[in-house]
Parts: sequence; C-alpha cells; structure tokens
Amino acid sequence: MASHCDGDSNPTGSSLKIPEIKFTKLFINGEFVDSVSGKTLDTFDPRTGEVIAKVSLGDAEDVDLAVKAARHAFDHGPWPRMSGSERGMIMMKFADLIQENSEEIAALDTVNGGKLFIFCKLIDIATASRTLRYYAGAADKIHGTVLKLSKGLQGYTLKEPIGVVGSIIPWNFPTAMFFMKTAPALAAGCTIILKPAEQTPLSALYYAHLAKLAGIPDGVLNVVNGYGCTTGAAISSHMDIDKVTFTGSTEVGRKIMMAAAASNLKPVSLELGGKSPLLIFDDADIDQAADIAFRGMFFNKGEICVASSRVFVQEGIYEKLEKKLVEKAKATVVGDPFDPKVHQGPQTDKKQFEKILSYIKKGKTEGATLLTGGNRVGQKGFYIEPTIFADVKDDMTIAKEEIFGPVLCLMKFKTMEEGIKRANNTTYGLAAGIITTNLNVANTVSRLIRAGVIWINCYTVFDMDCPYGEYKMSGFGRDFGLEALNQYLQVKSVVTPVLNSPWY
Ligand code: NAD
Repeated sequence: MASHCDGDSNPTGSSLKIPEIKFTKLFINGEFVDSVSGKTLDTFDPRTGEVIAKVSLGDAEDVDLAVKAARHAFDHGPWPRMSGSERGMIMMKFADLIQENSEEIAALDTVNGGKLFIFCKLIDIATASRTLRYYAGAADKIHGTVLKLSKGLQGYTLKEPIGVVGSIIPWNFPTAMFFMKTAPALAAGCTIILKPAEQTPLSALYYAHLAKLAGIPDGVLNVVNGYGCTTGAAISSHMDIDKVTFTGSTEVGRKIMMAAAASNLKPVSLELGGKSPLLIFDDADIDQAADIAFRGMFFNKGEICVASSRVFVQEGIYEKLEKKLVEKAKATVVGDPFDPKVHQGPQTDKKQFEKILSYIKKGKTEGATLLTGGNRVGQKGFYIEPTIFADVKDDMTIAKEEIFGPVLCLMKFKTMEEGIKRANNTTYGLAAGIITTNLNVANTVSRLIRAGVIWINCYTVFDMDCPYGEYKMSGFGRDFGLEALNQYLQVKSVVTPVLNSPWY
C-alpha cells in the first residue's frame, strides 16, 4: 500500500551519486578559514544517513571575527558607500554566476537535504538568481522624501542601511533562504553574517565563493557554520550586530527575540512555523482541488513552512476528494532525489525523520484514521511514505502541531462560517488556501482568515514582488517585495530652517 519505490530509485541505494564538495571552511572577510577551535561538523547524506563531508564548526569566537570583518566593511568599506546602481551591477553578476553553476549547486542541496535535484535546479536556484536580480534592480531606487515643515522649516528623510545583519536560516530551503535574507540586505548596503542550518551548510559556502567572484568586497558577506545553541546564540546576542533576521521554528524564534532584547535591543524579524489550512468548497473542480491540495502538502516532502497540512473539505465533495488524494499518495514514487522519476526524496535528517514517525504514531493512538502511508520506506536513509489521515479532530496533536513532514490531515466541514472558524483555530498564521469558483466566498474567506498569505485556487506560489510574512505565532517581518528591503533600512530625518524662518 501507499507510496512505493520502483527498482531504479533504490532508497537504500548502494551506488548513489555524491557530487564533489569543494568548500567546507568558514567564510570570513573574503577568505575560507578553519574555525578557531579547529573543530568540524559532520554533514550527512539523508539517503543513507552517512557522513559525506566535515565542515568547519564555528563558535562564538568565529562569530566575533566575522562581526569584526562585517563591522569594518560597513564602517569603512566601499559597499555601503557605493551608489545603488554599482551594488546592483555586482548583484547581477552574482546572479549570473549562480545560473552558470546551477547543476553543481543543485546537487549540493540534493545530497545534503534530500531535495529533488530537478526542483533544486529549476525552482530553488532559479528563485535565488531572480531574488538577487529583483533586489539588484531596487538598489538604486532607495530614497527618502522631501518634507515641507511648519515654522519655515524644511526637511528630508534619508534611507540608510541598518548596519551589520545576522541571518540565521533553516535547512528546508538552504538556497532560497540564503537569498531571501541576503539579497535585500545587500541591496540596502548592509554587511552580513549568515549562519546556515547545521544540517545543510554546503550550498551556502558555495554561494560565499561566488559572491567573492562576483566582486562583493571582503567582509560584506560572511558565512559561519555551527549549531544553533552556540553559533546562532552568539549572533542573536552579539552587541555589535544591528539586526537579526531569522527563519525557523517558533520555539527558537522566541529565544532569539529574548537574546536580542537582553543584549543591544537589536530589531529582529522572525519567519516561523505554520499549520496552514486549505479550504475546499463544494463548487471546486475535484481534479484541480486534489492536485492543489496534494502539492500544497507534499511539495518538498512536506518540509515547507506553508504546507497545507490541514485540508478542510466541504461535505458535498468530501468522499470524492478523499479518494483522489489517496490515489495520488499511492502513485507517489519515493526514492533517490537525483532520479528524475522520483517524486519524493528522504527527510532531511534522522531527527526530523523520527519526529515525523512519532507524530504518525500519535495520530493513530489519538484516533485518526490512517488512509494511506504511515511507514518508513526501505531500511536505510530517512524515507517516509506520503501519509494521509482522515477523521482528524481539531484538538488532536496532528491537527495542532507542525509536523514538517509528508503527513496530511483531512477534515470535513459544512458551512463557510464553520470552515473559517476552524481554519483560524490555530496559534499559527502563516498561510492559507481557498479553492472555490464563487468570488464572494473567495473574497470573504480571504479577509477573515488571519494569515500572512492567502492563495485562491492555487498554493505555494511565490513571487519576488509579493511580500510574504506572518500573523500570530508564525512571527513578524516580511520576506520578498519592497517590504523586505525596508527591513534593512533606517530612516533618518534631517531638519533645517530656510532663510527668514522664525528660527533664525
Ligand atoms: P530551527 O528553529 O530548529 O532552526 C533554524 C535555525 O536556527 C538553524 O540554523 C539553527 O541552528 C538555529 N538555531 C537553533 N537554536 C538556536 C538558538 N538558540 N539561537 C539562535 N539560533 C538557533 O528550525 P529548523 O528545524 O531548522 O526548521 C524548521 C522550522 O522552520 C519549522 O518550524 C518551519 O515552519 C520553519 N520555517 C519557517 C519559514 C517561514 O518563512 N515562516 C520557512 C522555512 C522554515
């Protein structure tokens, strides 16, 4: 039953492709360097659970060196002093280099994160270069306003880069996250210390190398690998970092905010977890709805913060939709993410794999009906069948907590009002989806659901120009759009009397 592996995709595989890993050190002040302690961090291949590389393991001392480099580059270096168009040209070159090396980088995210190679290449890396180009184009359009004030005063506002930025990112989209954080900060003229997730450091180091080739000056973009409780904590509590931008779990987001408050009161932006609802109404096209719901949940093996993990289906089409979703899960090929025939690769690491299986167990013991999936695939690596539960009650653990894996909860609803109420019955407010042909329903529901992004008749659609962020305990701040750029800018007001003003 459930998902299967065909002969070639071989989830326990014996001769699996491992790409060349060229960069394994920390990147500080334009150079690849060993960590001060000389310690290393094991990097794993989730297809086998085996170590594929050892990368330098940064700690507070390495963060401090990176902050000194970034501070110097900000206070004295050319980057914040260049014109926006000069910065933009260098960022465009960076984007070109990413495209030229897309095969090699995609292979790193695949071998390190279990992500489908073809998606890494066509979606993640294409998004990375588009993000850089979008903010490169915005870099020379950053300007303040002229103010005519009372009492013969005049003024203007300056938009200045916020300073040294600490970026802490998760493992599910190592490439997209890297550029969601760094591209607007670079365009603004900031300097950066980025900590990749300890599970997926490889592509970030490659990007550091390309940044240097593109002409980004030394000290502007630094990458320090390491664990959250040491390296990450050193970033969020550092007295000389001016802002922290974080994507990850709600639990860690809270710690980062507390560390920022307890140190230099640096502003933080937090993009956190979710338990996003998708409401499918009776008038929906069943095939289209099943497609959207399935991809909304199982894209990137469910390791996506906006996953449509709570699918509410109106009772008139519930049975048909349930059947379609189960068929899709059973047709899913789970296996080696380099294989173009495969739909779903392994979960990113052992911890995540075990966490997902424990949620599946909990779903069963709390009384939800397992329609399909629920098992490990193969004996090696971190593969899990696409899993669908029905008869899920709103107060069950699997309906409340973020699983961050291929587990979909199906629920039935009667009226629009009931659907809205239950969709909002969560501490999270990241994303939501609506599938209907009724414009009034779409408009009403989209206004009443408390979430940062609402997709109507589509799901998981991102565009550089569309700000993307959160309500409630999913955090605050925005990625993408000019809203994200503003998070890396300070507004300074300059006021002066004009001749003959009463102030003279
Ligand atoms: P996580 O919070 O465990 O880790 C994220 C990053 O924070 C890692 O780099 C980690 O090393 C670091 N970290 C951990 N403890 C820290 C500490 N005390 N101080 C500073 N840094 C610390 O999250 P994860 O498991 O890597 O990612 C999964 C989570 O990320 C999910 O909750 C998911 O919803 C969320 N996420 C949110 C978005 C979004 O845009 N809202 C996008 C992707 C992922």
